[in-house]
Amino acid sequence: MAQLRYKRILLKLSGEALSGEKGYGIDPEVLEQYSREIKRVVDMGVQVAIVIGGGNIFRGVQGERTGIDRVQGDYMGMLATVINAMAIQSSLEQHGLFTRVMSAIKMEQVCEPYVRRRAVRHLEKGRVVIFGAGTGSPYFTTDTTASLRAIEIEADVVLKGTRVDGVYTADPFKDKTATRYTTITFQDVYEKKLSVMDLTAFTLCKENNLPIIVFDMNQSDNLIRLVQGEEVGTLITVDVPSESV
Ligand code: UDP
Repeated sequence: MAQLRYKRILLKLSGEALSGEKGYGIDPEVLEQYSREIKRVVDMGVQVAIVIGGGNIFRGVQGERTGIDRVQGDYMGMLATVINAMAIQSSLEQHGLFTRVMSAIKMEQVCEPYVRRRAVRHLEKGRVVIFGAGTGSPYFTTDTTASLRAIEIEADVVLKGTRVDGVYTADPFKDKTATRYTTITFQDVYEKKLSVMDLTAFTLCKENNLPIIVFDMNQSDNLIRLVQGEEVGTLITVDVPSESV
């Protein structure tokens, strides 16, 4: 059996990524690709928990612009994450995986309520656990949910799958001279004001010494390479002495 660098991972996928090129809704090809990659690491014995965003369907701040109350909009956003969670669940099951969606907002006809001990038990049994409905509270994000749940279930790392392949010195879409960090400390990310996650999510990881890896989830093999300890994307930790570019 291959050596595993990470045995329990929290994979954060953005809702936007799920919509693929369309920019809205759920792209079946993206779902298929994600499920394939996830199955490969589960088959290797990695325990996988997933937090999925809802930005492909609804964001609370977006509601404000259309006259929907912010808190109401945030709850709509949380419900959107459950739709995405169910889509991923269905796709993973088609790949033969055992899964559970656990929601921070009770909806027992659809999924289990989130109970930390139960989530850990599912993971130990090899089930993929998908956390839906964010933290269950408005004004938070699914990045914060990812950090929080990762700490709760004692995941080894938060893997933030994005369309960019790591953390750059500047926005690579705007600045062609921008270079990617392979490793960087939380402190440096903070001081250089690099965008990785919102500050609440970021601080939770920093204070609990939970490493984050930002990587390109659309690149096949990246996930499996990561769990085996290969250098993929950007690793953010507490104790890297100096950042390497
Ligand atoms: N949300 C929330 N509390 C949470 C998580 C999410 O209110 O704990 C709402 C918020 O309105 C957010 C939306 O759900 O905009 C969708 O989540 P997010 O924007 O994080 O999704 P992503 O950007 O990852 O697709």
